[in-house]
Amino acid sequence: MFEKTLSELSQALHAKKISSVELTQAYLDRIERLGEQSNSFITVTVEQALVQARAADQRIAAGEAGPLTGIPLAHKDIFCTDGVRTSCASRMLDNFIAPYDATVVERLAAAGMVMLGKTNMDEFAMGSSNETSYYGPVRNPWDPERVPGGSSGGSAAAVAARLTPAATGTDTGGSIRQPAALCGITGLKPTYGRVSRYGMIAFASSLDQAGPMTRSAEDAALLLQAMAGFDPRDSTSIDRPVPDYRASLEHSLAGLKIGLPREYFDQGLDAATAAVIEAALDQYRRLGAETVDISLPNSGLSVPAYYVIAPSECSSNLSRYDGVRFGYRCEAPRDLEDLYKRSRGEGFGAEVKRRIMVGTYALSAGYYDAYYIKAQKIRQLISADFRRAFEQVDVIMGPATPSTAFRLGEKTDDPVSMYLSDIYTIAVNLAGLPGMSIPAGFVDGLPVGLQLIGGYFQEARLLNVAHQYQQVTDWHRRAPGEA
Ligand code: GLN
Repeated sequence: MFEKTLSELSQALHAKKISSVELTQAYLDRIERLGEQSNSFITVTVEQALVQARAADQRIAAGEAGPLTGIPLAHKDIFCTDGVRTSCASRMLDNFIAPYDATVVERLAAAGMVMLGKTNMDEFAMGSSNETSYYGPVRNPWDPERVPGGSSGGSAAAVAARLTPAATGTDTGGSIRQPAALCGITGLKPTYGRVSRYGMIAFASSLDQAGPMTRSAEDAALLLQAMAGFDPRDSTSIDRPVPDYRASLEHSLAGLKIGLPREYFDQGLDAATAAVIEAALDQYRRLGAETVDISLPNSGLSVPAYYVIAPSECSSNLSRYDGVRFGYRCEAPRDLEDLYKRSRGEGFGAEVKRRIMVGTYALSAGYYDAYYIKAQKIRQLISADFRRAFEQVDVIMGPATPSTAFRLGEKTDDPVSMYLSDIYTIAVNLAGLPGMSIPAGFVDGLPVGLQLIGGYFQEARLLNVAHQYQQVTDWHRRAPGEA
């Protein structure tokens, strides 16, 4: 049962082979038994899950169910959940019970999905290894001595370890695609504005985007269908119809033009990972696609530009945590200044503080033009690179990460080497494009992710391209312990 896809689970529920309560209980038992191994959950919402499951069973019995009704899922702990702790993996929000649901949470609940709990992540989504969480690191189910990637590492590990059939994630610079790659699952970051950010705790508002983390592309299509769409409560959400993502999954790839950016296959890429990517590209050629060499000349500037823009936005977004309104407050403050200083000093972890310092510096009067404005100009150049590329090709492919999962602790003392693990994913956020990572093989028993990048609002195309590959390969079906 834990191997079933969302559509298979849906069929089983509709055929009354299993009830949502039974299914939910089975997953809750599995989390109870195995959850600690990966530390992928911060909160498990046992009672609420069973209430939702009972309601789903009633909807199914009444013939009012949709394709996702009764299916369990887990939410990254960055999404506000009414009445449930929403910590963002920070001490700052350890005591925060959200008073409302994020739009994503609301929509998936309205579709009848059952929330199992909230997944672990890097603190405020800042990280690439899940080691910055206040609740401790997440372990990669393929090798517990290795990181699952981040920041949506708990969601990726929980899906890979079959603790949930699907999960939500968010991606500001790679946080869906990079952990999906390192845990051997399918992850999709939609076009900026496709999914509402309302109730999603802000890191860098011009880059943040929520998306599905699942085992297959078909499952991602199902989940995105329920997540996507205009939301008047998010001023950057785009009012544009949501296509039927499953309708085009079976389209043939004959004649598809795949762009291979030479900058994604340079010395920085591990040779064994490169070989797996090459084999995946061969598979696409056999499916009728054609590969074209392209260039994204400003790729090398994406990490430096991102590490000015994202910290700048975060320094502003995180100014709301002041010890006054909500969240952590220090003991016995002497005066207001002491309250601010100690609440923030004690409530935030080291990486979050580093980002706030960098961002505050980059936005300060004397340096604004030299850093922030410059980074914004680079952002335009990066978008223009992609615009030119998509005049020539339908999708862009390359590795999602430079190597497979690294060891816990390996990069914690070297922020720059940590930042470079998103070298292939960050440009996509700067340009606001959709991107995906799909399982493409293994190196020494560790998963490798193939990245697919599409033009604006080309999610259906990406899902089609991913699904066709998953029809002729079974990497996405492999479970930890059997690579
Ligand atoms: N790893 C990147 C960072 O640390 C991206 C994180 C994300 O996408 N949330 O900022």
